[in-house]
Amino acid sequence: MGFRLEYRTSAMEMEQFRRTYQDRERFLACCRECPRYETRWSCPPLSFDVDDFLTTYAWVNLLCARIFLDDETIRAADTAEKMQTTGWEIVSRVKLDLEDRLRALEARVPGSLSLSSGGCHRCGRCAREEGRPCRQPEKMRYSLDAFGFDLTAITQDLFQIEILWCREHLPEYFTLIHGLLAAAPVPEEIWEAAGLGRGGKRGVTDGAFPENKRGGRRLTPA
Ligand code: SF4
Repeated sequence: MGFRLEYRTSAMEMEQFRRTYQDRERFLACCRECPRYETRWSCPPLSFDVDDFLTTYAWVNLLCARIFLDDETIRAADTAEKMQTTGWEIVSRVKLDLEDRLRALEARVPGSLSLSSGGCHRCGRCAREEGRPCRQPEKMRYSLDAFGFDLTAITQDLFQIEILWCREHLPEYFTLIHGLLAAAPVPEEIWEAAGLGRGGKRGVTDGAFPENKRGGRRLTPA
């Protein structure tokens, strides 16, 4: 099982970002259909005033990670079950890595807070299901989806990437969007220092991947 990563970054003022991409009613209706709804502290319904929370930050910095699967991995996942298992393992691994890197980035950008992609699955069973507080509040980050943002439009408009889905086989790539809420756009050198490369519309980097400078870091399961 192998894949390589490509990072792109972008940023937008919060006010414009919300005006362009937030539709809470529409997207929270989708969240209600999800099994993670009300069962993860990272997911809706959020336990605070979303408007107050978001207006604390003037800018939304975005990180788009594209996970390219190698041919062998796509070929080997030749049943629906294998596709699900392989896709989950790869995406989970990259997602946790991005969460760690973005939490480290928070320390370099005072007053910032990172957002993750999808629901939190750090614990086998989320404490929310038992009516208890989050077990790892220092690590858990809310999902961008939880705020009612249109991730498909964000991915297309800001990164010119089409989201692909599993059909008869695994897709050529998966896409994850994470965020960093902050007072200002994150300078490129800060992204670089976090191992998250440079990009946005300016291009793609492989700077985060010392093992393979041309093709990106190749990850295989431990
Ligand atoms: S860290 Fe654990 S308790 Fe907290 S949201 Fe994630 S799964 Fe739930």
